[in-house]
Amino acid sequence: MENLHEGIHIGNGGLCQKICDAPDVYHIRVPYPNITTDSTNSYAICDGGECLVVDTGAFSEEGLAVFLEALELIGANLESTSFFLTHLHKDHAGLVDRVVPPNRPLYAGKRDFELNEERAVPGFKNLILDRFVSEGIPEEEARVYAAYEDHEGKEHFEGKDLHLIEPGDELHVGAYTLQVVDTAGHTPGHLSLLEPKSGLFFGGDHILFVVSPVLELHPSASGIMDSYLRTLGTVANMDISLLCHSHGPLVPEWRDRTLHLIRHHEKRLAEVKGYVDGRPGITGEQIVKSIKFSVDTSNWMAIKPALRWCIVSESFVILDCLVERGDIVRRVDEQGLRRYTPNK
Ligand SMILES: [Zn+2]
Repeated sequence: MENLHEGIHIGNGGLCQKICDAPDVYHIRVPYPNITTDSTNSYAICDGGECLVVDTGAFSEEGLAVFLEALELIGANLESTSFFLTHLHKDHAGLVDRVVPPNRPLYAGKRDFELNEERAVPGFKNLILDRFVSEGIPEEEARVYAAYEDHEGKEHFEGKDLHLIEPGDELHVGAYTLQVVDTAGHTPGHLSLLEPKSGLFFGGDHILFVVSPVLELHPSASGIMDSYLRTLGTVANMDISLLCHSHGPLVPEWRDRTLHLIRHHEKRLAEVKGYVDGRPGITGEQIVKSIKFSVDTSNWMAIKPALRWCIVSESFVILDCLVERGDIVRRVDEQGLRRYTPNK
């Protein structure tokens, strides 16, 4: 067991490490090939012969082997294990269909699940495409972005004992009760778990250190940026001993990072408002190219498409926020292009 405290490396990039003794909590690093990160941090919270797994990681044969070997190392039996998903992105829910037994509870956020169902409706991709094109993105490029799908589809959860949950609900493992916390932003219905006795907070992609979490654009969800700022503010005031987030090494400075993310977004909102004030009638596409991102956007097409998609989507989330706040006004011109002007 001592080795588990130090961490046991599994396969190529996998890890299983015990990070808490009351309750027993294990960090399971599930590797997968990706652009910005190369693994997902899953967690297993265990007490009294039961375990609750937080996120499963992405599907890959290697990831599956790491996940199952980690459960064996910690002595978790799948028949007494429940599963919780912070959100439905493939790098969090990808192994669900292979590891969650049909008779074991699988908890997922009601809001994200309902929004996800809309993705399967015919015409959804056209809504996304229309949004990109109306902001001035060339259609050929917009088609590439509209084709991106980072969510697991409805069929991925078929046959599972799925329980749709909401903020304020409670999950139980052994003698411990975990509180379901609203951490909307990265996805509109993103959820986290707080174990109040240890102060461990299982925060998914709400607050990451390796990257500023991307905020998801969804045609049926409004108030994305303000929801994110609100939930960051809530978390900043919580009594958390360790933020168990989903990507990158665990570091203690979670509150500094939370406050940094709030400042970062407020600064960018002010930056974008400045562009609109200085150039009334500016399009979304022109705003995208104006924002000072950490990647150099001057050679736009040299940036990987998936990263461009993130940049474009987040820019439109910022514009939506400024429009919703009444800081700027959006009008559609004769060509169907959205143009932004100061609200005077
Ligand atoms: Zn995610």
